[in-house]
Amino acid sequence: MNLRLHLQWIPQTLNKLREEDLLEAETYRDRVSSVTKTGKRNWVYALKPKGKWYNYRKYIAWSYLAVFFIIPFIKVNGLPFMMINIPEGKFILFSKIFWPQDFFIFAIAMITFIVFIVLFTVVFGRLFCGWVCPQTVFMEFVFRPIEWLIEGSPSQQKKLKEQGSFIEKILKKGLKHFSFFVVSFVIANTFWSYIVGVDELIKMIKEPISEHLALLIGLIIFTYFFYAVFAFVRDLVCTTICPYGRLQGVMFDKDTMQIAYDYKRGEPRGKFKKNVERTEGDCISCNKCVQVCPTGIDIRDGLQMECVGCTACIDACDEVMESIHLEKGLIRYASENEISTGKKFHFNTRMKSYTVLLLILIVAMVFLISTRKTVDTYISRVKGQLYQEIPGEKIGNLFEAKIINKSRKELPITLKLEDLEGEIKLIGTTQMVLKKEAINEFTFFLNIPEKLIITHSTKIDIGVYNGKEKIQTIHTKFLGPFK
Ligand code: SF4
Ligand code: SF4
Repeated sequence: MNLRLHLQWIPQTLNKLREEDLLEAETYRDRVSSVTKTGKRNWVYALKPKGKWYNYRKYIAWSYLAVFFIIPFIKVNGLPFMMINIPEGKFILFSKIFWPQDFFIFAIAMITFIVFIVLFTVVFGRLFCGWVCPQTVFMEFVFRPIEWLIEGSPSQQKKLKEQGSFIEKILKKGLKHFSFFVVSFVIANTFWSYIVGVDELIKMIKEPISEHLALLIGLIIFTYFFYAVFAFVRDLVCTTICPYGRLQGVMFDKDTMQIAYDYKRGEPRGKFKKNVERTEGDCISCNKCVQVCPTGIDIRDGLQMECVGCTACIDACDEVMESIHLEKGLIRYASENEISTGKKFHFNTRMKSYTVLLLILIVAMVFLISTRKTVDTYISRVKGQLYQEIPGEKIGNLFEAKIINKSRKELPITLKLEDLEGEIKLIGTTQMVLKKEAINEFTFFLNIPEKLIITHSTKIDIGVYNGKEKIQTIHTKFLGPFK
């Protein structure tokens, strides 16, 4: 079964390869890179990349990590900058509270995000995976450096595994796994503070743990999850589990920018010989691009779904090209068309249509957020109640009001019947004062003179006022006797 997805092309020059190369080319696609020929896990010992692209990624990763760990501590007007409290159905983005009733904004935001990701992928390939995906950032810039620090280079790691003494293994592996666990615990705490808020988390930590068993269980689950992902699952997340990675095949086209090996320039490959005029292509078969690959693939086999676009092979190959005085860029960011035809990047019809769709969605989102109300009112007749005859020749209906105050202050409000004479009598209270950031519920009788009720069901408008300012009009129905 062909498990490897050769997305767009196979270098035409493969046809010209030697017989043994062809045999290898045929078999490499029989399995994913994470599985050996005998069906075992192919543990990837990637060399530490170095070079221009790795440095850029490192700066981005550090900024990214700083933002991730700092955001829970940022507050604007006393509100967290971001909080995703799923258990309470309370979401705070950019210090604005969103309630489940605002979910249509979330839905539009999610669609916009997906279109953005699709458009981004169509144009820039797996740029997201290589540069800002949390899995890549944490794996390559937190956990792998810890591993390099404790166990050494990939060759030292292999040596430790195969020839290391029992004591050395216990010490080094023990220290590595302990460090991984501690970092996972820190990540789990940060993750948790995005859910409950950092103040609540600190309060929970200070109080007796027996009062917060749910927190303890949540933290343990998250910690073990992160530890398992970064200590054992690692590259399998990108090559086998992540659905975004699996979707690349349907989003890429021949104009998509990707990390590509210039097979026109590189083939046929041949070892570098000093002081001998080169008759082969520029690839000197040094395998450096393979040794640095965190997913264990050979980019020269063409674009593969396991490639996370990490740029490590670009840096490795550029260093080799520089050392043998050849032009850099044998492996580089380029589209298939760019390599096969020499054509420059162009904005194709698919990209144009996705861009238009994305712009429409962004405009819709901005409109929805800017017109989002601070007070949301829902008024309906109490279920199962018809009408009551009230002394003074009036008809009464019992209503319930659910009013969400999304602001940070209490709001006194009043309800008024519009365009019709009638009175509103609150039950259980004399004033309507909305608690801040809360769903407020009220029950009231609406009494209307009987002479004004001319049908069984009368359409009425109820105005919601804050002082003299009308903030909302609710359309509902008032029931009266059949006439
Ligand atoms: S690093 Fe460059 S020269 Fe070396 S094998 Fe890879 S593509 Fe060829
Ligand atoms: S092929 Fe190159 S860009 Fe792709 S994952 Fe491997 S090293 Fe990174």
